[in-house]
Amino acid sequence: MSLFEIHSLAEGLESTRSYEYTKYHPMDEIYGWMENVARENPEIISSAVYGYTYEGRNITLMKLGLENPEAREKKVVWVDCGVHAREWISPAFCQWFVKEIAASYKTNKKLRKMLQNVDVYVTPVVNVDGYIFSWANDSTRLWRKSRSTPPPGSSCYGVDLNRNFNANWGTVGVSFDSCSNTYGGKSAGSEPEASALMDFVGKLVNRTLCFLTIHSAGQLILLPYGHPETSAPNHDELLSVGKAAAEEMKKVHGMDYAVGTSPEILYPNSGSSRDWARLTGIPFSFTFELRDKGEFSYLLPEEQIQPACEEAYVGAISIITHVHDKTFSGATVSSGVAMTIWSGVMAAFLTSAGLV
Ligand SMILES: [Zn+2]
Repeated sequence: MSLFEIHSLAEGLESTRSYEYTKYHPMDEIYGWMENVARENPEIISSAVYGYTYEGRNITLMKLGLENPEAREKKVVWVDCGVHAREWISPAFCQWFVKEIAASYKTNKKLRKMLQNVDVYVTPVVNVDGYIFSWANDSTRLWRKSRSTPPPGSSCYGVDLNRNFNANWGTVGVSFDSCSNTYGGKSAGSEPEASALMDFVGKLVNRTLCFLTIHSAGQLILLPYGHPETSAPNHDELLSVGKAAAEEMKKVHGMDYAVGTSPEILYPNSGSSRDWARLTGIPFSFTFELRDKGEFSYLLPEEQIQPACEEAYVGAISIITHVHDKTFSGATVSSGVAMTIWSGVMAAFLTSAGLV
């Protein structure tokens, strides 16, 4: 056994009881936390590696669920965090979310019931390479993209993973300049992080009720689609479910979250994971843009981790409860084919400032 392995083993035996959920953690600590929280909660949490980043690191998810008493096939809810490196509140939320569920499922009967019907897959950090880079030093703190090597003739690293999904790829709100913060990559799914997610979730589409991807900042709940000339067939229901979540979130700490499609309340974009999820047939798909509205943005102080996560947890549970109850009260889930009709390619110029 090498020294490194002894070190890892010692870390792995630490308890999550002392883990500080109100601090931001570097990636090695998050990896250690994932191992610990799964080991300490074997009835409800297991973990799996479903892909590798450009630099070869594990992309790991945690599956939260309880055995179904009737041994029925379970539905799936997807939650991911850390797609954009600098949005540190997002991985903090995924950890908070897992912690809250692990702490409450034994006493919260409704949650217990939902976890018997649904497995919740949580990826705390999708863009592991970028997240590590954002921790490297002050000058890289605001890194957004992945860390893939520059294309020929360029010296600029990284792809905006939330422009790389196979959803109207390369049409609006995206750049073909590899130095841009919204560079969408060579082609849809060219990046291993995006393609791992599409491969894994793609195999679960028929069982997946809901797709939540967590970003910051701006205090928004975004619905599909990012393309201004397309509309989800269940747009009205997406809007009402999003608004109900925002109302619940406001009750927690009084914060306002706007709800709408990206072109309506933020900016047009294409190639997002949210749009891919809806296009591929997952009926409910939302992007959360967590706190704040611009004062600190990606540099949200640690004092705000707890309130931001508390309100976002309530919002996520509100949506998950809706999709659960809709499915398990006998009603059918709509998963109609999305409309993808538009004329011509719209140009949308975005500066790197204010991107979320
Ligand atoms: Zn983002």
